Amino acid sequence: MTLEAFVLGTGGMMPLPGRGLTSVLLRREGSLFLFDCGEGTQVNLRRLNLKWKKISVIFISHTHADHITGLPGILMLSSQVERQEPLYIFGPPRVKEYVEATCRILEIYINYEIIVTEITSPGIIYSEDDFEVRAFSLYHSRPCMGYALEEKMRPGIFFPEKALALEVPQGPQWSQLQNGQSVENQKGKLIEPSEVMGPARKGRKFSFVTDTAYKPAIADEVQGSDLLICEAMFTQDMEEDAKDKKHLTSLQSAEIAKAAEVKSMGMIHYSPRYTRRDLYQIAEEAKSVFPDAFLTKDCQHIPIPYEE
Ligand SMILES: [Zn+2]
Ligand SMILES: [Zn+2]
Repeated sequence: MTLEAFVLGTGGMMPLPGRGLTSVLLRREGSLFLFDCGEGTQVNLRRLNLKWKKISVIFISHTHADHITGLPGILMLSSQVERQEPLYIFGPPRVKEYVEATCRILEIYINYEIIVTEITSPGIIYSEDDFEVRAFSLYHSRPCMGYALEEKMRPGIFFPEKALALEVPQGPQWSQLQNGQSVENQKGKLIEPSEVMGPARKGRKFSFVTDTAYKPAIADEVQGSDLLICEAMFTQDMEEDAKDKKHLTSLQSAEIAKAAEVKSMGMIHYSPRYTRRDLYQIAEEAKSVFPDAFLTKDCQHIPIPYEE
């Protein structure tokens, strides 16, 4: 099962040439999940040539324009393909009003069902058989949510040699054992999956955090992420501004990543005041606290492999 992130935009406040607004597409095998959707999100979706017209779920952090004004275009273009499945949208209060008003005023033709859920309290908001998405509160100038997609534990490794030694020949019984069912061997003895399988293995975790003031509690929510995408809007010398505007600095993002013991942290939502070259300062500062921090780039592809 593949899991990979595509960075669609890395900027905050306004799009710049070569720097789209903050948005990340997560692809899990064939399913697509979009996190935030600023103006112009479509442009890099197109550039990446993904089959993006069938996005399953869109998670919106908050209703600031740089995170949401790309939505009408996505809704409109998603109608260009045959679609039976509904599109789910999650976000803080007023997201529903925004989607409804936009569709009504622009008279957008929509050929599928849109199900918008406003998140009023943190917790699990979406789940499928083998993963779930949890929303948690961030600390911004208006209601803002962070998200964590976490896969459930998956079965341990199957050892064919153990099955053979226990006289379970290759065949449908092997799949039954791998699916957690006990089977009878050739002598009629019951063989348990635990006799031929290793211990259950961890799934993967992807977290998305933007926009927010610094609070140590954020680390608890993103604990153990394989990939944390986290805003790092300002260099450390701008700490006071960051505090006033309720955003994170490089060092604060790194502190979160370090406390949460994430595997890697991609920084995002850069202030438009920084040129590409200035951003190296953000990277250097963050790496001084958390060496696995990196600057995300527009159109970057980030695979998220299993730990084992
Ligand atoms: Zn923003
Ligand atoms: Zn904001």
